[in-house]
Amino acid sequence: MRESSIKQSTQWWRNAAIYQVYPRSFQDSNGDGEGDLRGVISRLDYLKELGIDAIWLSPFYRSPNNDGGYDVADPRDVDPRFGVMSDADELIHEAHARNLRIIVDIVPNHFSTEHVWFQEALSSEPGSAARARFHFYDGRGVSGEIPPNNWNSIFGGPAWTRIVEKDGKLGQWYLHLFDSTQADLNWKNAEVKQDFQKTLTFWLDKGVDGFRIDVAHGLAKEEILEDHHNPEGLTRALRLDVSDMPRNEREELLSDVPFFDREGVHEIYREWRQIFDRYGDDRMSVAEAWVHPSSRATRYVRHDELHQIFNFDFLIAEWNAVFLKSAIDKTLGEVSEVGAPPTWVLCNHDSPRLVSRLGGGELGARKARAMALLTHALPGGIYIYQGEELGLEDAPLPDSARQDPVFFRTKGKDKGRDGARVPLPWNREKSSGFTSGKSWLPIPDSWRDFLVEVQKNDDASYLTLYKQSLRIRSNHPALKPSDLHDVSEAIMWLPSSDGVLIFRREPNFVLVANTTDKTREIEISGDLLLASSNDVTLERGILRIPGNSTCWINASH
Ligand code: BGC
Repeated sequence: MRESSIKQSTQWWRNAAIYQVYPRSFQDSNGDGEGDLRGVISRLDYLKELGIDAIWLSPFYRSPNNDGGYDVADPRDVDPRFGVMSDADELIHEAHARNLRIIVDIVPNHFSTEHVWFQEALSSEPGSAARARFHFYDGRGVSGEIPPNNWNSIFGGPAWTRIVEKDGKLGQWYLHLFDSTQADLNWKNAEVKQDFQKTLTFWLDKGVDGFRIDVAHGLAKEEILEDHHNPEGLTRALRLDVSDMPRNEREELLSDVPFFDREGVHEIYREWRQIFDRYGDDRMSVAEAWVHPSSRATRYVRHDELHQIFNFDFLIAEWNAVFLKSAIDKTLGEVSEVGAPPTWVLCNHDSPRLVSRLGGGELGARKARAMALLTHALPGGIYIYQGEELGLEDAPLPDSARQDPVFFRTKGKDKGRDGARVPLPWNREKSSGFTSGKSWLPIPDSWRDFLVEVQKNDDASYLTLYKQSLRIRSNHPALKPSDLHDVSEAIMWLPSSDGVLIFRREPNFVLVANTTDKTREIEISGDLLLASSNDVTLERGILRIPGNSTCWINASH
C-alpha cells in the first residue's frame, strides 16, 4: 500500500529535479569497498538538502555485475553486494518520509545469462519453450559456424555467442546486443511480457514512484535473420564514434536500425501504461531511448504510453549558443505536440562527466556551471548525475582498474565508462569517506578539493551553486512547478548579440548566457538572482557578464 508520508501530488514528475544514484559508487556502509543501499539511506539528508525531488537508483538487483548491474539475474531481488530486500523497503520509506520520490531502473531488453531462465534455456533442446524466451537460432554455414546474422554488439565484437549443447557439441547461437552475458529477451513471448508486468507491480506495490526504462527502444527486433548492409558503420554510428563519418551517412544508418525503435515497442508501453495508471498518476516512467531523427521521441510519450523520455541533446551538446537555442526550441516544440514534459540531461553513468566534456580544468568547470544554470531554468524535468553537483571530472584510471565490458570488448580501444563511475568524495577520512575499506575504483587524490565537506561551507562552490539554483527553481513564480502542459511558449527569446542567449519566463525572470570568451554588457533593469561565476555584475541597469557564464535576473518589469 502507498505510504501516507509521501505528499500526494499528481504529476510531480513534470517539473522534478531527479538525482541519479549509481549505488555502487555513492556510499559504502559495510567497508567492502562498494556502495550499497544502507549507504544511500545514510546520505538521504544530503540529497534532501541539495534540493532534489526524486532519486533514480541505477540497478541494485541480483546480478553478476558484468555490466554494472544492467545484467540482471533476478529483477525482484536485491544483490547481496547492495544489501537485502528490507534495505530497499527502508530506503523507500525513509525517502518518502523526507518527501523524496524513488525511481528504480528496469532492464527489459535482456537478462543476465545467470538468470534462471537462461540457465534453463541452456539445458533445454533447440526449439523448446525455454529457448523461446530469448533469441536462439541455428548458425549458418556447413556446420552452423557462422552467426545467424552479421549484427555487432554495441559494446564491440559480434552480437551472437554460440553455446555448447548438452551433448558437448557446439550448437545454437543467442543474440546479445550488449555483453555476451546479457542475453536479449524475445518480446514476442508471452512469458516475457508477463514476467515484466510482475516485476513492475512488485516494485509499485513496494511504493516506488517510477521506473527508468533501460534501452526502451530496443525490445522489438525485426529482420532478425537478415544481414545488415553496413554493420561496422552502424556500430560506430550507435556508439557516437563518428568523427570521420559524414553526417548524412550517419543519419541514414541511424534512421533504420533493425533492432531499435521498431513499431512493436509501443504496444508494450501501452500495456505498461495501463498498469501505471492503476496506481494513480503520481507514478511515472522515463524512457532511455536513443531514436533518430529525435522527433520520433515523442512517440514514446503519447498520452497512453510513457510519461517522459530522456532528451539527450544536452548530453552531447557543446557550449555553443546556436546549438543550444535550436535544441531548446526543437525539444519544447516536439514535446508540446503530445503534451509531455521536456527533460534535460547533462551527464549520466554512460557518458563523460560534463566538466570533462566541456574541456576540463578551470575553463571546463566554468562552462559547466554556466551550462547547468541554463539547464536549471528550462521548463520540465532535470536529471542530475551523482557528482555533477560537485563539478567532478572523469577520473583518470589505470587500465588495470577498469571493469566496464566496453573496455574489454573493444580490446581497450574504447576506455569505457568507468571514469565517470568513480565513487563520490565525501570528506577527509580514508577513501574520502566513501568506504572504510578499499574503494572498488580508486578515488583520485586531486578530488580533495571537491569534497562535499569542503564545498558545503564555501559560498562560491559548485555544490552551493546547485543548491541555490534548485532552491530558486522550486520557489520562483516563473520557474516553480506549474500545471503547464503546453511548454511551446514557456520561454520567450529576447534579441541578443552573437554567442549570447537571453530568454524570459513569466513573471519577471530573465536568463542571460554568454557562451563567448568575451565580456558583454547588456542593458537590463532588475536584480541579479544567481550567477554561475562571481564576476557577473548588474548595476544601474547594466549587466556585465564575462565570457562563459550564465545569470538569472529578477527583472523589474
Ligand atoms: C545503460 C548502460 C548499460 C546498457 C545495457 C544502457 O543504456 O544505461 O549502462 O550498459 O543499457 O543495459
